[in-house]
Amino acid sequence: MTDPYGRSITYLRLSVTEECNLRCRYCVGEGTCRSRREELLTREELLTAVRAAAALGVTKLRITGGEPLVRPDIVSLCREAAAVPGIGELCLTTNGTLLPGLAAPLREAGVRRVNISLDTLDAEKYRAITRGGEFAKALAGIEAALDAGFEKVKLNTVLIGGFNDDEIPQLAGLTRKWPADLRFIELMPMVEGFGQEAFLPCSAVLAALPELTPAEADGGVARLWRLPDGKGRVGLISPIGAHFCAACSRLRLTADGMLKPCLHAGDEISVRGLDQAGMEEKFREAILRKPLWHGELGFREPSRAGRSMDRIGG
Ligand code: SAM
Repeated sequence: MTDPYGRSITYLRLSVTEECNLRCRYCVGEGTCRSRREELLTREELLTAVRAAAALGVTKLRITGGEPLVRPDIVSLCREAAAVPGIGELCLTTNGTLLPGLAAPLREAGVRRVNISLDTLDAEKYRAITRGGEFAKALAGIEAALDAGFEKVKLNTVLIGGFNDDEIPQLAGLTRKWPADLRFIELMPMVEGFGQEAFLPCSAVLAALPELTPAEADGGVARLWRLPDGKGRVGLISPIGAHFCAACSRLRLTADGMLKPCLHAGDEISVRGLDQAGMEEKFREAILRKPLWHGELGFREPSRAGRSMDRIGG
């Protein structure tokens, strides 16, 4: 289906849980209140939502959270979602720490691509940014994903001035070691606790790595580059410095059943308790309510999302 600005909406990000086994400082707000169990979509409602989205022309589905892999039924949920007619591409975003036991079953269940968050290569800094996570587990998860034969493995690094800008060469250097893309993502102002210096534009990556050469675009939101001898590419995702609203093809559905026409707007439409026809109606409404752009964002212009990312789904 097409929105009022002519954008074709083909991509759903579906949050399947608000729970996470990490608490990344830029993602989980201080004192975040999670939804009560009865407010969360049931497994059947999640799958009905996928069917409703597919009926309206969504072809790409990304399972996210919270941390999707903390769900005990994640493999079978992915298998059923992948089998929904019209869903051509099933992807998953994870912090990777639970992938060692799950990468192969997820691949077999029909997950084609995985994005794994990795903000630092330093175990102490990893513990600090994730509020207690173990770097070795994330690393083991990345290796498990590479072994499992996904069509694409991407590493997502939130670029944070004063935290990991000194690691840009080492992080980008992972693309020499692994056939994976590493994408630097500008920090979005979703939670408090970050000073102005934390909001670095992606151009800092180009300044730190003059040896990058442009790589062919792949239709995604990242601008792509490659290091000499890089097996994977280095991507720059600039929601702040160079927003990509004009090409936005996404809707988000939160674990508590709220459709968000735009990540950074407070507008939400509930699909809880509806059958497929009812959900289709709400998806239509959400597509028609997509704004042209997300408005100014930055250190002085916080997101108007009304929730932190762990309760939206990135
Ligand atoms: N738990 C999974 C993970 O860690 O990837 C999936 C959920 S997480 C909300 C999805 C993505 O959102 C991650 O890549 C994370 O880095 C990104 N994210 C969360 N908060 C962000 C922020 N303030 N700015 C930019 N990206 C953010």
